[in-house]
Amino acid sequence: MSRTSNGKIQCNFCRKLSGSDEGFYAKPDGRTGYIHSPDWDKDGPFDTCEECAEKRCPWCGSTLIINVTPAIPGPTGWGGRCKSCGERWSWNVGSVSFT
Ligand SMILES: [Zn+2]
Ligand SMILES: [Zn+2]
Repeated sequence: MSRTSNGKIQCNFCRKLSGSDEGFYAKPDGRTGYIHSPDWDKDGPFDTCEECAEKRCPWCGSTLIINVTPAIPGPTGWGGRCKSCGERWSWNVGSVSFT
């Protein structure tokens, strides 16, 4: 986690700035996003917004990922696979529930 001189948090990949010092920003669709330290760089200098995080492997940060997007998502949402480290994962789909 690193801050700009005026206390905002900036995504290291697309240079997006947070609107507050907690890291929140407004997404184009009006929802609130969050700029945070990625899991693969918890103690390092990188910060990522949610759009950039979705383009990277949550395990190693590689962009060599394959998104698995079935027509009907599973109980934990959509998933992906990383060509660099071989890990698989799934994303939680927030407030959407599947019954
Ligand atoms: Zn970004
Ligand atoms: Zn990976």
